Amino acid sequence: MELAVLMQRAAVDHSVIAAMVKKGIFILSEKEVARISEGNDDAVQLPALSNDQQQALHLIHQAFDQLQPVLLHGVTGSGKTRIYIELITEALQNDKQVLYLLPEIALTSQIVERLFEVFGNNVLIYHSKMPDMERVEVWKEAAGKAKLIIAARSGIFLPFDRAGLIIVDEEHDASYKQTSPNPHYNARDVALYLAMKYKAHIILGSATPSLESAFNVKAQKFQKVSLTSRFGEVSLPQIEIVDLVYERKTGRYKPVLSVPLQKAMAAVLERGKQVILFQNRRGYVPTIQCKNCGWTAMCTNCDVNLTYHKYANDLSCHYCQQRKKNPSHCPDCGSQDIGELGLGTEKLENVVKQYFPNARVGRLDFDTTRTKAAQDKLILSFARGELDVMVGTQMVTKGFDFDHVALVGVIDADALIRFPDFRAVERAYQLMTQVAGRAGRRQEMGKVMIQTYSAEHPVIKEVVSGNFEGFVARELAERKQFWFPPFCRLIVLDIRHSSLENTQLVAKEWTTALQDRLGERVKGPIVPSISRVRNQYIRNVVIKMEKDDALITRTKQYILQLKDTFSQIKELKMVRVNIDVDPY
Ligand SMILES: [Zn+2]
Ligand SMILES: [Zn+2]
Repeated sequence: MELAVLMQRAAVDHSVIAAMVKKGIFILSEKEVARISEGNDDAVQLPALSNDQQQALHLIHQAFDQLQPVLLHGVTGSGKTRIYIELITEALQNDKQVLYLLPEIALTSQIVERLFEVFGNNVLIYHSKMPDMERVEVWKEAAGKAKLIIAARSGIFLPFDRAGLIIVDEEHDASYKQTSPNPHYNARDVALYLAMKYKAHIILGSATPSLESAFNVKAQKFQKVSLTSRFGEVSLPQIEIVDLVYERKTGRYKPVLSVPLQKAMAAVLERGKQVILFQNRRGYVPTIQCKNCGWTAMCTNCDVNLTYHKYANDLSCHYCQQRKKNPSHCPDCGSQDIGELGLGTEKLENVVKQYFPNARVGRLDFDTTRTKAAQDKLILSFARGELDVMVGTQMVTKGFDFDHVALVGVIDADALIRFPDFRAVERAYQLMTQVAGRAGRRQEMGKVMIQTYSAEHPVIKEVVSGNFEGFVARELAERKQFWFPPFCRLIVLDIRHSSLENTQLVAKEWTTALQDRLGERVKGPIVPSISRVRNQYIRNVVIKMEKDDALITRTKQYILQLKDTFSQIKELKMVRVNIDVDPY
């Protein structure tokens, strides 16, 4: 009898059983039970392929015949999954295994459900949050009977026996890159290598492909296949700009929710439809500030502001989890005039409730989804129409499709564009386009409103017109001019130690040693925008290199050799040096 069943029927806990086992009344033994779900074996009726989809499938087959990787660029709602299903079916018929990679399994459970419906018993799931025992089972199956494995990035390490097809869905997603813990890798790039090794077909799919992949198309390394229209005659959403400069000029400016966005929300809620609001910052406000002396709440362990969470009435650091009580007065000057700086999802939720007291508002961010159950519940209640407005961080931009979302609002586009990173504009394009794609599904055209002070920024215009090719051409030209990936390779050395002196010393030593060999390609030591985390000082050394395999191999060897040398010097070996190739 199964232990859990026995305990339940006898209404006893584990200690009672353990005592009886000790006395030899029961024998406890372990038996392996496959956790492979009993899916639905009835054949699922799939919608016929549209002309566009048929055409795309034909082009994919052609590329596969030439062993070329395919980039499937399909606008949101164009039915990429339908095409994947065709390809998976073909692979399984040829007795090949399929690896279907997703950036985050939890957030994309709709796709997982769909694949379960179609492939039933043949589906296995694999990700790092699963219990080890279950992971071991999938691991064993991968080397044997497994047919279709849906996995997060770690799925690339499974020991496939006869992999025939790898699908990298949402290939642009930054969560394919693992930075911590080691090893550092980008699962998309590893998947390309694996496909070559297994002689398997590989298809990367996205509504907003990465510049790396767009570049590979231009270099004729990938075959690009496009799906430009939404499946089932649904039109793409209409995107409008709310020009905040104009709003201010005309004196009708309202913080957080502009007048045009409020009006659009009111109209949509009136019709019983749903709204998604996207703000990529969690907490109530990013920080608080003394209006008298300018003091802001900083973490004592890290070089970052503490985020104010109203719900818990505390200030917390998103880097080291330090928590402090919200001060009643300024610790520097004693003034009680402490104000809020910026906007987080928690405050956005409050503002929505003030303007629309009858609306049922949900919030999807790291703080409301600490358990998978909480996250599932939130998404399910939105899907069931028990919520009218969903406020959230980039979690709301990812993969879930609801039929009744008529309006999507991007609250602060400027924060996305101005983020200090060379990929900021690319991410802004991706996030805005992805979240826009949540609007308007069956029957009606959705509406998207983007609030910004930078209405003239080219990326805003490209998002509005859906001009992906224009975005790629312009952004690639900029990357080329300033010599950034995909035109070069980047290696970043992240140097950390509790003593500032040691950190600086080691950063200097590395810079000098690397410059000896690589000259101008090495920049350092650089003080990063967040220069201390958990009481560890941080300095970076950046190597920018030509995409020359021989040079890269030589550099790698040199770095390893230096690491070895430094680790033998007493003063330097305590300083941690983390090496990240192709950082994200
Ligand atoms: Zn003060
Ligand atoms: Zn901190």
